[in-house]
Order: sequence, then C-alpha cells, then structure tokens
Amino acid sequence: MGFGIRNLSKRYGATLALDDVTLDFKPGQVHALLGHNGAGKSTVIRCLGGGASPTAGTIEVNGEQKQRLTPRESREAGIAIIYQHLSLVDTLSVSDNLFLGDEHTSRGLVDQQRQRREAQEVLDRVGADFAPTARVSQLSMGARQLVEIAKALRRSARLLVLDEPTAALSPVESARLAALVDKLRTEGIAIVYVTHLLEEVVRLADHATVLQNGRVVWSAQMQGVSKAD
Ligand code: ADP
Ligand code: ADP
Repeated sequence: MGFGIRNLSKRYGATLALDDVTLDFKPGQVHALLGHNGAGKSTVIRCLGGGASPTAGTIEVNGEQKQRLTPRESREAGIAIIYQHLSLVDTLSVSDNLFLGDEHTSRGLVDQQRQRREAQEVLDRVGADFAPTARVSQLSMGARQLVEIAKALRRSARLLVLDEPTAALSPVESARLAALVDKLRTEGIAIVYVTHLLEEVVRLADHATVLQNGRVVWSAQMQGVSKAD
C-alpha cells in the first residue's frame, strides 16, 4: 500500500515540466530524486502536495490511483512535504507550532496537558534536544526542521518528502538528519529525498532517480552498492 506517480505528465504552457514519469515510493524506502534546475523535481513535489494538477497520469496514494490531489486530500492521505523554507511560525512555541492548524484547538487545562505530553512524545521520536516550550525563533535551522518533521509525524504522515533537507544545515545537523531518515525508514515511512549531493544518495537511498527536462534519464536500486561506512 505505497505511494507513487504513474505516467505522470505536467504541462505549463509550452513547457513540459514532467513527461510520462513513473516512480514508486515504497514504505520503509528512501527514494532519492536528482536533477539540475528545471528538471521537474519541484513539479513532482507539487503534484504530490496538491499544489499542481497533473496534465496526464495518476498519483498513487495508499494503493489508490488519483488524477489529482487537493492540498487537503494530500495531507489526509498522509503525505507531508518538508520544504527548504519551513512553514513554522517563528514567534510561537514548538508545541504551538506542532498543533497549529488542528480543527479544534482547545485551551482547557486537560487539553494543554495532553498536548504537552503528545508534543514531548513526537519530539522524542525525532531526537529533538529542545523543549516543547522553546520558541521557534530561538532554534537553529536543524532544530526547526526537526519541528517540521515532528509536525508531519504527529499527523501520521506515511510519505515524507524532504526537499534538499541539508541545504541549510551544519555538518553535525546533517548527520543527525541522516540518522533520523534511517530511523523513519525502519518505522515503515516512505521517503522522497530531493538532493544534488551524491554522498547523501550513497548514504541514504534505497532507490535513486535522475530527472532531466521532465524525463527519467536514470533510475536504479541502490541495494548492493557498496557503502564506505
Ligand atoms: P526543478 O524543481 O527540478 O528545478 P521544476 O519542477 O521547478 O524543476 O521545473 C520544471 C520545468 O517546468 C522548468 O522548465 C520550469 O521553468 C517549469 N515550470 C515549473 N513550474 C512552472 C509554472 N508554474 N509555470 C510555468 N513553468 C513552470
Ligand atoms: P497548477 O495550475 O497545476 O495549479 P500553478 O500554475 O498554479 O500549477 O503553479 C504551481 C506553482 O508553481 C505555484 O506555486 C507557482 O508560484 C509556481 N511557479 C509559477 N511559475 C513558475 C516557473 N516559471 N517556474 C517554477 N515555478 C513556477
């Protein structure tokens, strides 16, 4: 019951941003997506997130073929997209960010206690070393990204799309993210990992695909590729 795109094409005016692209995003696997600027990577992400409607083809969500997804359908299907520019509210606490956008956020004491417990649980799950009460504006980029991932996990994400996740991270934060990706993989989460760094592909990917001008020009299983560590 995985995710994927089947024969997906997307046209913007005269530009064919995606041309008959088929990719599988399987539970417990990291699928690395590579390609130069304009290759179509963001278009894949937008189709998954409900920000763009495919011209042809389908999006597979939990084994079902859909011609398009609205942002809400995407979220409800368990798809979470972690963009480079995170969508957290800087002036709020980590905990408030985690629960932001919930249908009914109650202010009752019991709810606050439950929220604090739930926030701590999901922060532990991503290996965060900061408190739910911390203000997002005081956190490093790596810590903010953990909050965003924690928010996705709290909403029971089954497909996590990471868009160049280490672009703004320090080497230490990048290593911590790699360890988290490994952990989420063992939890059965499907991961799309957009990167241009070959060492991340070698370190993390179970499958890698290179896009060029909207087409798949290379795609391979990475099992058996010898890893230095
Ligand atoms: P990447 O993320 O790999 O850099 P994109 O998916 O952003 O590639 O873009 C693929 C192609 O589609 C590019 O030629 C880009 O200019 C074009 N494109 C993407 N979005 C739009 C849009 N909303 N309107 C017009 N052209 C677009
Ligand atoms: P759709 O018609 O499928 O809903 P849109 O045309 O609304 O898709 O574009 C989706 C996203 O692409 C928007 O967020 C828009 O800002 C962005 N975008 C617009 N033009 C370009 C472009 N030339 N290259 C890359 N992205 C673009």
